[in-house]
Amino acid sequence: MKRIIYLAFDHLHRDFGALKQANSADDVIALVESARMTTGRNWHKERLFFLISSARHFAQSLEDEGFTVEYIKAATTINGLEIISDKYKALPIISAEPSSFRQFTALKEYGVSFVENDFFLTPRSLFHSWASEQKSYLMESFYRKQRTRLNILMDGKEPVGGAWNFDKENRLPPPKKYEGPPYLEHQRDEIDREVGAELGHSLATTWATTRTGALAQMKNFFDNHFAEFGPLEDAMTNENWALHHSLLSPYLNNGLLHASEVIQAATNAFHSGKVAIESAEGFIRQIIGWREYVNGMYWFLGPDYRNNNQLEAERRLLPLFTDPNKTQMNCIKETVSDINERAWVHHIPRLMLLSNLALVTGTNPQEFLEWMREVFIDASEWVMVPNVIGMGVYADGGRMMTKPYAAGGAYISRMSNYCKPCKYDPKLRTGESACPFTTLYWDFLDRHKETFAKNHRMSQQVFGLNRLTDLPELKVRAQEVLKGLELGKL
Ligand SMILES: Cc1cc2nc3c(=O)[nH]c(=O)nc-3n(C[C@H](O)[C@H](O)[C@H](O)COP(=O)(O)OP(=O)(O)OC[C@H]3O[C@@H](n4cnc5c(N)ncnc54)[C@H](O)[C@@H]3O)c2cc1C
Ligand code: SF4
Repeated sequence: MKRIIYLAFDHLHRDFGALKQANSADDVIALVESARMTTGRNWHKERLFFLISSARHFAQSLEDEGFTVEYIKAATTINGLEIISDKYKALPIISAEPSSFRQFTALKEYGVSFVENDFFLTPRSLFHSWASEQKSYLMESFYRKQRTRLNILMDGKEPVGGAWNFDKENRLPPPKKYEGPPYLEHQRDEIDREVGAELGHSLATTWATTRTGALAQMKNFFDNHFAEFGPLEDAMTNENWALHHSLLSPYLNNGLLHASEVIQAATNAFHSGKVAIESAEGFIRQIIGWREYVNGMYWFLGPDYRNNNQLEAERRLLPLFTDPNKTQMNCIKETVSDINERAWVHHIPRLMLLSNLALVTGTNPQEFLEWMREVFIDASEWVMVPNVIGMGVYADGGRMMTKPYAAGGAYISRMSNYCKPCKYDPKLRTGESACPFTTLYWDFLDRHKETFAKNHRMSQQVFGLNRLTDLPELKVRAQEVLKGLELGKL
């Protein structure tokens, strides 16, 4: 044997990273299940199950291919590597560049050498050169560059369909009584059962833990959901937990799928004429635009970015985030219950319900970030940090987004079916029946009016405060709402 190849649990692809050039005669494959990763925090069991079972299945597939695989449990990744290194007489260790600053430092200090992380479509250095030339880091500018550079949905130098973005055609509310095609169920095997038993977790069939299952999920999306992805992308309904979202983020993030495979399938489906440009462009933008942009920004903004708290938000995490019975807000109750069940909700509940609530209640960004990291199946440091700190709660003062995503109940009422059965009324901002979102939205704007008045994208909203004849009453109600939420009684 000549080398040890260290495989992080998010590098599970045979054709990318350090495995790309591996061969079973020269390379020992090392995977470490660290106690820090499994017991270090209050992780959602579905998330742990998915990560661990995927890694064990992947290790098995490498063994089947003839590799020597060392899969061990240890206190930390480095402890694990020390044990494996002792056994193989200190062979050199290589790995693809890790996906977080902390892991990068730890492995580097231990002496691991890196090959480029090619689990994304954009090399970190390329993103860095783009970002270094920008005055503001608009995702839309990056996305157009990506379309041209990767030659995706392009007609020469022009975008296919005559526009870069078809969001005006999208953004429909949920249809009434919506069922949609059934979701794929993933059958469990011996490895799944073993991991489930170790974790004390009852097995569900929502998430695949193998490459075959991830490919089946991708096929299911393109066959049954892609055509309707765009129009219903922003809708929320308790009648269908995923609408037409792809459910591919866990596999893209742990390596079972590569972005290039998803994009190839998307462009094939589009060119076959089965899918309209609104859906095709909308979905492709998520993968070659948002996903790449968020990863690029994580590395560009640096390790201290996660500590930003520019709006000085100091409230402790509200009890409703961990227990849906601690609120009567129907939208939040439904969303947190869904997370408890599957470790997933789609983009709009993450942004316009959970983050919006953290933002308008002035919840401490780092406490909110840690909770989000623990409960989502697809949460990794590189993707959660910019999405929460930059997009979700505007804790970076606008480095990533041009304005905060704050909204009252009217938006939630328009885009979901949550409000009808709710005890609160999205149209009211004062009184006992007032929707907490509506009250707190105005209170938030009022608390930060000096800061936001300087932002031309916010000035109209701030100006709207002048029309509120009941502002003093609203401020009193906002205090009652915040107290009630803190006590888990509202
Ligand atoms: C506050 C907040 C936190 C988020 N945390 C995560 C996270 O921890 N992990 C994660 O993968 N995504 C995160 N997202 C992005 C997005 O919500 C999820 O990628 C998406 O809901 C996953 O479901 P899906 O695969 O069905 O996505 P689809 O709606 O089908 O979208 C397709 C793909 O686009 C990519 N994508 C879309 N938007 C983003 C984005 N903003 N950042 C990165 N990738 C994106 C994902 O890979 C996703 O699989 C977050 C968004 C917000 C607002
Ligand atoms: S009324 Fe307000 S709290 Fe109730 S579901 Fe609608 S937005 Fe949520």
